[in-house]
Amino acid sequence: MYHPWRHARDLGLAIEFVNGLRPRGTYAAGLVQIRAGLSQRERRVVLAHEIVHCERGDDGIACSRWHLQKRERAVHLTAARRLLPIEEIIAAQHEPDPAIALWVDDYTLALRMRHLDPHERRQLDLATDEWRIA
Ligand SMILES: [Zn+2]
Repeated sequence: MYHPWRHARDLGLAIEFVNGLRPRGTYAAGLVQIRAGLSQRERRVVLAHEIVHCERGDDGIACSRWHLQKRERAVHLTAARRLLPIEEIIAAQHEPDPAIALWVDDYTLALRMRHLDPHERRQLDLATDEWRIA
């Protein structure tokens, strides 16, 4: 499992929780700000997203509506791929709520599922077939 908190620490990022922050998260100069009051799953997703901005060299970024902008969507898909390896998606298929089992929000799982590559799609199909037969 990917651990954004550990990854942020390894990168030397500072993390602050900010009351009333309008975007869900921001990134600037080694500092990640996360809106206070988000759920644990949302905080995890926001941090994974801001780490991608850091790695890209983006700066002074405010993030909320990830689905609306091309750059934000691309950043979020990178974060989603880290948070959701195909093996973990497959293992969570039988859960009543896979997003909860996988510790992400619904949007992140939906985005990841829409962008499975053909090899991942085939792995998922094969695993699902096996359960049906078993
Ligand atoms: Zn962003």
